[in-house]
Amino acid sequence: MEFKQGDRVSIERNGTVYEGKVMPSMEGYITIKMNSGYNAGFSTDKVRVTLQENNGETVNGGGNGVKECKTRGEKLPEPGKKLPKIAILSTGGTIASKIDYRTGAVTSQFTADDILAAIPELKEIADFKGRVISSILSENMDSDSWQNLAKAVVEEIEAGAEGVIITHGTDTMMYSAAALSFMIETPVPVVFVGSQRSADRPSSDNAMNAICAARVAISEIAEIVVVMHGTTSDDFCEIHRGTKVRKMHTSRRDAFKSVNSLPIGTVDYSTGEIKTFIDYTRRGEKTLKFKPGMEPKCAIVKFTPGADPAVLDYYINNGYRGLVIEGTGLGHVSTKWIPLLRKVGDAKMPVIVTSQCLNGRICDRVYDTGRDMLKAGAIEGEDTLPETALVKLMWVLGQTDDFEKAVGMLREDLGGEITECTLK
Ligand code: ASP
Repeated sequence: MEFKQGDRVSIERNGTVYEGKVMPSMEGYITIKMNSGYNAGFSTDKVRVTLQENNGETVNGGGNGVKECKTRGEKLPEPGKKLPKIAILSTGGTIASKIDYRTGAVTSQFTADDILAAIPELKEIADFKGRVISSILSENMDSDSWQNLAKAVVEEIEAGAEGVIITHGTDTMMYSAAALSFMIETPVPVVFVGSQRSADRPSSDNAMNAICAARVAISEIAEIVVVMHGTTSDDFCEIHRGTKVRKMHTSRRDAFKSVNSLPIGTVDYSTGEIKTFIDYTRRGEKTLKFKPGMEPKCAIVKFTPGADPAVLDYYINNGYRGLVIEGTGLGHVSTKWIPLLRKVGDAKMPVIVTSQCLNGRICDRVYDTGRDMLKAGAIEGEDTLPETALVKLMWVLGQTDDFEKAVGMLREDLGGEITECTLK
């Protein structure tokens, strides 16, 4: 028995029957979309698959309808049709992961080429070139990883890529997206994409996210963006600006949200239609520029009630060059912190104040504590997310050793991180 994309099948595993349509699947797995809208993935050697309705063209198969079912179903583009050239750079994360049955843990095992092979629809959208940058979970990334990644993106654009997709772990995707937003001025779309659930798991979001990312990579939106599920259903993905996005849920497929901004737009999964909601930089509007400098010795300090201000001494005495404070409300710390903040300023370490509220804008002119913070030299981060403020600080201090110049740059909007008007 042979199965291919679009076939209706029933799958029996351990006495339970699952029904649905065959989706693009990794080798050794069969993924179906169930009537509930959820995807379910199965290891093909552990299930019995029965064909219910034949809907597409035959591709591969094996055994007695149980063992090897591959769902390639690749529709190759018409000969002679010129598709845009897109580079796909893999870094690891869940989108490149499957369960390692030896350990039971999810590990990054797929390369960019494996992802391309597993999602045949991609080949209808663009002419892809795969490149492996790393195979790590994104919690293992650091500023060196961002620089290597940015360098590879620049190389691909210089070599003629009309768009770049970066497959990335979701945990720290917003840091990497922010880092590239400051490091690179891009004439083409640079799209981060990941998945919350690995390819062999029920309801994996990898194929839909990758297909939507490819649509954005060939679009007019020439910015560093994050493309991920917009809702828990398989209806559309959202396109988030790299400096305004945050992972807001541990496991939901629609975990990524734009904060203090609307998303740039949405991509419809079935039609590929892109709708935009805010202004964005268009393809070719900017020329490629690359400023990779990064200062790793920067940190975020979260103020909590009663927290000992002496914690700031650690950073002063250990060679740190700048701090982001995650203050309360409009951007506050307790009065006891003010002398230490002055000490940080005397050490010529810029301090950006952001808010634990995440939503809204910093204003340190309302209460005494805020005014004292400003007098001590703190910089209001406006409506910048704390993580983005940290990456901005690292980038700015990687560009200049001049304290006054750095403070001037930190007050500016450098990559869309400060919006003029915060959403109510
Ligand atoms: N821990 C993983 C990572 O960030 C999670 C994911 O990719 O969704 O690499």
